[in-house]
Amino acid sequence: EAKDSGRNRYSIFSKDLSLFLHKQRNIASRLRASIQKNEFTLLYQPQIDLRNGSIISCEALLRWTPEVAEHSAPPDVFIPIAERTDLIISIGRWVLEEACRQARHWRNKGIEICIHINVSSSELEQDDFFERLTKCREKYDLPPSAIGLELTENILIKSDEQVLDGLQKQRALGVEISIDDFGTGYSSLSYLKRFPVSHLKIDRSFLENAPESEYDGALMEAIVNLGRKLNLQIVVEGIETQSQLTYCQNVGIECAQGYLFAKPLPAKDIETRLLEQG
Ligand code: C2E
Ligand code: MG
Ligand code: MG
Ligand code: MG
Repeated sequence: EAKDSGRNRYSIFSKDLSLFLHKQRNIASRLRASIQKNEFTLLYQPQIDLRNGSIISCEALLRWTPEVAEHSAPPDVFIPIAERTDLIISIGRWVLEEACRQARHWRNKGIEICIHINVSSSELEQDDFFERLTKCREKYDLPPSAIGLELTENILIKSDEQVLDGLQKQRALGVEISIDDFGTGYSSLSYLKRFPVSHLKIDRSFLENAPESEYDGALMEAIVNLGRKLNLQIVVEGIETQSQLTYCQNVGIECAQGYLFAKPLPAKDIETRLLEQG
């Protein structure tokens, strides 16, 4: 009997697995079709100066917008699939182009904020990544400070001399380079010494309980001190509540993103806020 139920469990598992794989393949083929049709959008989440509440920069966040809305999926679902299938390379090219186009559009209206884009490891490993970044800035007549790069720790840990060299050159030009989700990847910190980083984005998970939990608070403060000592700008991700905001201000954090201030917004909406703020 035990054997039977074991076999059942196995067949249920394998059914789940094949359904899962089937869904993944479906998403991949629909993504491929959407690349042909440019069915993507960038939303922009403001990054706030906690000392005065003003918007100082923003992060571009990708949304998949196929004609049939039910065929879409959130970034946490479709981006890992795009990464495994290398579709992320075409998608990332679109993101770069679109962010540059937006930056030019805003600059024509006198808005000069940095747009930070997320970059996956397979994009960064493309031989022509840095060349395309430079060419795209030139095409839209943008200074290096117009487009920032967000990379995760895991990307930096495994990246080679070519990537290191490319990042160093961009950083020297004034490109802002952020470590995204800081604290959630590999625990080795030695890459901070090797790589030309300008910003640490502290992952939301550290902030969640920091106001109440002494333990989480200690972790947050240790990261903030580390960043200060290394002369890095600290950005906190995911401020949702007033008590989290007060906590961050007390710790001396100067920049944050989070639903308390704004969710990722359509370009037009953040533009309105930026024009109001002058
Ligand atoms: P991320 O780069 O760490 O982006 C921050 C995520 O946290 C975003 O999720 C954002 O909407 C969400 N967030 C911001 N404030 C809050 C808050 O107060 N509370 C909560 N609960 N969440 C908040 P989103 O837009 O779903 O993106 C998820 C991830 O997908 C991103 O994480 C990033 O890793 C990836 N991603 C997004 N756009 C791109 C892209 O253009 N290229 C690549 N390669 N990856 C991207
Ligand atoms: Mg990011
Ligand atoms: Mg993040
Ligand atoms: Mg993330």
